[in-house]
Formats: sequence, structure tokens, C-alpha cells
Amino acid sequence: MARIVMKFGGTSMAGIERIRNVAQRVKHEWDQGNEVAVVVSAMAGETDRLVNFCREASSLYDPREYDVVVSSGEQVTSGLLAIALQAIGVPARSWMGWQLPIRTSDGHASARIEAIETDSLLAAMGEGGSGREVAVIPGFQGMALGDRVATLGRGGSDTSAVAMAAAMKADRCDIYTDVDGVYTTDPRIVPRAQKLSKVTYEEMLELASVGAKVLQTRSVGLAMKEKVRVRVLSSFDDIRDEDGHRGTLIVGEEEVNMERQLITGIAHDKNEAKITLTEVSDRPGAVASIFTPLADANINVDMIVQNVAHTTGSTDVTFTVPKAELARALDVLEKGQEAIGYSKLIHDPKVTKVSVVGVGMRSHAGVAAAMFKTLGDRGINIQAITTSEIKVSVLIEEDYTELAVRVLHTAYGLDGPDAAE
Ligand code: ADP
Ligand code: ASP
Ligand code: MG
Repeated sequence: MARIVMKFGGTSMAGIERIRNVAQRVKHEWDQGNEVAVVVSAMAGETDRLVNFCREASSLYDPREYDVVVSSGEQVTSGLLAIALQAIGVPARSWMGWQLPIRTSDGHASARIEAIETDSLLAAMGEGGSGREVAVIPGFQGMALGDRVATLGRGGSDTSAVAMAAAMKADRCDIYTDVDGVYTTDPRIVPRAQKLSKVTYEEMLELASVGAKVLQTRSVGLAMKEKVRVRVLSSFDDIRDEDGHRGTLIVGEEEVNMERQLITGIAHDKNEAKITLTEVSDRPGAVASIFTPLADANINVDMIVQNVAHTTGSTDVTFTVPKAELARALDVLEKGQEAIGYSKLIHDPKVTKVSVVGVGMRSHAGVAAAMFKTLGDRGINIQAITTSEIKVSVLIEEDYTELAVRVLHTAYGLDGPDAAE
């Protein structure tokens, strides 16, 4: 017998037929004698719909009330799954975030989980009580200060699942989604992308943070810290590898063969916007005068490029911020023009960050050079660059996104057989 957490995403929960399919998968695990907790997302598209209602009601909505509205999608699917399970003879009940509770920080709309009380839940899931009840938990939800409903940020159900698995000391956390694992890049963009049977926590953390939305970044960080065994797999098919395994396992570095491909994966992110300040005076403290007010306004800056001033005594500074924060960032910078001392403020939201990730990069030179050459050969201009020990990211014009991802996938030898062939 094992204790497992199963998480089902929005596409897997979209409509009663699919919820019945999920119930069958849960029953299969429960029939083997396992203790099962299920974390569910809202039906696909539902959270977007609810977010839009809030925006329509007021552009300056109260985030605490936004959380009340957007968390409702998960309430519906958890109740429906409990009903579907009971209908096939599996005892089940739903536990709202506030009923457990899942306690979070006060950062409404992107709260962090701080503690989960599991005593009642584990008692219900065990042999005693009403007898091996399946616990259905709405993802994305928690309870903040003052017992207010909170949500964990978009894609947050992955984090709910990993946090539940850690709190329950589960043997594994299975993330069921609409693809059968983590691929070398988004398989919807590159049909020749290949499924990885294993990926390290560190690589998955980088891939998620640079745009591979298959897992929320925070969920991977938490899994790494708490050593949760996470597997990503499909809720729609049961394809197995040659060795009989399904999906992708997220594992420690000691479990992967370091002799494999130099690059593990490629990701892209269209959610950043570029800002350039021209003719910033080249003096100590000038850069701080740009980024301090942005930090004070809680705006995250990602890529930064500063040109060297040769003769003019001034330099251009280019950087990126989340697209959703662009208007606020421009406002902060306009107000600070005198204090910063720049000539023009230019912005461009039509950019994409493309990144290559792989632990093999640590011991090999030339990864960045190969990236720049491949893009250059296709006439794709690089507007900014950042690197980490296991990642290189470049900023390019948005229209070239698909082309850039495809040619890089080929250049690093990641192409598999075409799925369409
Ligand atoms: P869910 O609703 O189950 O949480 P998401 O839409 O959040 O599902 O994440 C799954 C999607 O992530 C896939 O449909 C795929 O398009 C996308 N994706 C992006 N990069 C990757 C990758 N490297 N491997 C697999 N899927 C990826
Ligand atoms: N329903 C939420 C969202 O769409 C949380 C999730 O599905 O992970 O962001
Ligand atoms: Mg998701």
C-alpha cells in the first residue's frame, strides 16, 4: 500500500465525461489498496473567465475579493469529482482549502503556502473512520490572514499538489495533464520534441521559470526542497516507454545519466516586455536610480543590458519586466525621469525570451555560441542575453518565436521522429 497524491489539470477536468474518466483513474489506484488524495484544477478556461469578470467589475479590484471569485472554479470541480467517485462505489469527500485548512501568506492572488493541517484528512483516508475515503482537494486555494480565501497564482494547483504530498508524507505525487510528460520543448510547437523519461529538479526548475508551463515554477522548487517524488503523465492515454514506465520523473541529479544530451530542453516566454532608457548619464548610482524605484513598486526586472559609454558620457539601458507590469513600470520611470536623468523612454511588448537549459552546460563550453550562430544564420536578431550555470536566454522579436525554438531544437540534436510521419 502507498499513499499517493494525484493532480488533474484543467483539460482533464473539462466537463462531466472527463471527470468520469478521472474518477476511473482514481478508482484504479484506490482499488490497489492505496490511500489517495486528489488535487483538482478548475475546468479549462474557467479561471480565465472568472479573472475577466473581476477586471470587468473594476480595473482596481480588491485582490481578496478576486481570490473569492477565482477560487470558485476549483470548488465546482472538487465537488463534481467527489460525486463521480461515489457514483462508482468509491467513498469520497471534498475538502475546501479553508476546511483543512491550507494556510498561506497574505499575498493575495499569488499567496505562498505556509502550513497544511492534515490530521482530519488522514484520519478519513485511513482504514478507520468511514473507511478509506478518497480526499478531493481543490487546487489553487488556501486561507490567508483573517481567514480570508487566498489563491496561489496562475497554474498554482501544481503547487497545491506538491505541498499536499509533502505535508502528507506521500510516497509520490502524480501530475496528470494533457501531454504524456515533460518534453524537450513544448510539443505543441515542435512536433519532433521528445519526451524525457527523467529530468532533474534543477533543470525542471529552470525550464519552468523560463516558460515551460507544464509545471508551475513554485511547485518544482517545493518538490526539490521537500524531496517529493513528482511524475508528470497524461490523463488521456497510457503510453509506456520501452522499459514499461509512464510519463516523466523529476529526480535528483544522482539518478540521471550525465552523459546524455548536452541540452535538456528549450522553452520560451512571451510574457515579458522590453524597456529602453536612452542617454542615461554614465555615473555611479545611475543604474540604482532606475532599478530601486522599480523594486520599491514590486516590479520584477529580468534581463538587463547596459552599453559601455565610450566618448559621450552617457549610455542606453535596456531591460525586461513582466508584460502585465509594463504600464506600472513606465509610470514609475516617467515620474523618475529627473532623478534618473535619461533622454527617451522606449518600450516594446512584442518580444519573446527563448532559453536553452541543461546541466551538461556546466562542463561544456560553446553552448551560448552555438545558440547565437544558429539564430544569426536565420537572420534572428538578439536584443538581450542572460545566462546562469545551466541556462542561456536571449530576447528576440516575438514574430520569430516558433522559428527560433524549432531551429534551436534541431541545432542541439533534440529532434526525434516527426509525430505526423
Ligand atoms: P494543466 O491544465 O494540466 O495544468 P498546463 O496547460 O498548465 O496543463 O500545462 C500543460 C501544457 O504545457 C502542455 O499542453 C504543453 O503545451 C505545455 N508545455 C510547455 N512546455 C512543455 C514541455 N517542455 N513539455 C511538456 N509540455 C509543455
Ligand atoms: N485554475 C488555476 C489556473 O488556471 C490553477 C491551475 O489550474 O493550476 O491558473
Ligand atoms: Mg498547469
